[in-house]
Amino acid sequence: MTNVEHTALAARYKAVQQAIPAHVALVAVSKTRSVEEIRALYDLGHRAFGENYIQELVEKQAQLPMDIEWHHIGHLQTNKVKLIVPFVHLVQGVDSVKLLDELDRRAGRAGRTVQVLLQVHIAQEETKHGFSGEELTALLDAPWRWPNLVPRGLMGMATNTAETKVVATEFAHLSALFNWAKANAANTFDTLSMGMSADAPLAIAAGSNLVRIGTAIFGDRSAR
Ligand SMILES: *Cc1c(COP(=O)(O)O)cnc(C)c1O
Repeated sequence: MTNVEHTALAARYKAVQQAIPAHVALVAVSKTRSVEEIRALYDLGHRAFGENYIQELVEKQAQLPMDIEWHHIGHLQTNKVKLIVPFVHLVQGVDSVKLLDELDRRAGRAGRTVQVLLQVHIAQEETKHGFSGEELTALLDAPWRWPNLVPRGLMGMATNTAETKVVATEFAHLSALFNWAKANAANTFDTLSMGMSADAPLAIAAGSNLVRIGTAIFGDRSAR
């Protein structure tokens, strides 16, 4: 990275921080970014990073400081779970019972308690993963049966659209589910992960307390 790139990163990071209220956690989404770029943000004081791809996550984790909080944020394949369980801070995209089973089994073997967010499918798009609202309420109404996993809350992705009404409605739906779960089913719930670079303000207005921001911090991925 050049000095100019360092300065630009620091300016974008500062702008993002200033746009986020103090009660909202910021996870810097570093997929496709180099170890050097992550290190630069780390040197600015940032500690929470989110990655989608297991190979990338494992390679970066091995090269970067141990006090980074690594979040897994996308769809996770069960056969990859064992690679991240030893160090992952929060698994944000837990979207099936099969995945809960495997995470619990591997966490038990590793002698760790792993924190998870349950992903809810709120978008109109078929491509996004997650439990339906009904599946989620059924899951949380029953006793929690994964002793090595702590459910910390919910995660969701809104439809990728410029229609703010659609996005706001989807976030409001997830927020209502979160509040219901917190009050009635899951007393370990404290985290509602919703909002990315394009829709973070709408997500925060709807009650998000964790945003996952890539582009607004690191710059455009497609421009690279
Ligand atoms: C890539 C990604 C983000 C960050 O997206 P930006 O638009 O770069 O902020 C957030 N959440 C998930 C699940 C992602 O895959």
